Amino acid sequence: MHLAGDRSAAYAIAPPDITTVAVAGMDAVFPVARVFCVGRNYAEHAVEMGHDPDREPPFFFMKPADAVVPAGPLPFPTKTQDLHHEVELVVALADGGRDIPADEALDHVFGYGVGLDMTRRDLQAEAKKAGRPWDMAKGFDQSAPMGEIRAAEDIGHPDKGAVWLRINGEPRQEGDLEQQIWKVPETISFLSTLVALRPGDLIMTGTPKGVGRVEPGDRLDGHIEGVGDLSVSYDS
Ligand code: MN
Repeated sequence: MHLAGDRSAAYAIAPPDITTVAVAGMDAVFPVARVFCVGRNYAEHAVEMGHDPDREPPFFFMKPADAVVPAGPLPFPTKTQDLHHEVELVVALADGGRDIPADEALDHVFGYGVGLDMTRRDLQAEAKKAGRPWDMAKGFDQSAPMGEIRAAEDIGHPDKGAVWLRINGEPRQEGDLEQQIWKVPETISFLSTLVALRPGDLIMTGTPKGVGRVEPGDRLDGHIEGVGDLSVSYDS
């Protein structure tokens, strides 16, 4: 049963909160529908993860909407000895659709942000080995810290610019948006052939090389030129 907008039916329990992300320069916040993530979208990261950098079709995994949390202090995740950082450009959709042509895809974008695809790499390695799903490696609580979204009408549609992540001030990840194997319009178009995209969907577009371990007490600073910054610190 679908209760959205149906005021005549009562919920059996209080409905869950809508996850939101702050929007730069606006009091209004961006409501999150779903979070799609692109795997291995920078060649040098594909190589560092042991894969061929050739241009294969993109593949996707998901995080639950409520994995998205704002910058700030975070509890260190449970059940991992190998938490990894992946700094990524996040695309926020204003409009959805199916089979969106690449040359129309950017018309569906509300804006962009800086996000972290936090990964329990040890659980992911076990899942890969056993041919099991990645959900508990990728979609755990608070696994998608995100900075504020900046509207495309303010910043345009960035397709080049430095992407970096520092831990405790030390450079760890460095790349450029222009190194993405699948560009944002192609990614939106391809994903819209797999699912009907919806307003409020977020797409995390993959990470450049240099992923590595995060320890309790670490401070992570991420940056994407022309998009923004994000700082997260883990409890020690
Ligand atoms: Mn990622």
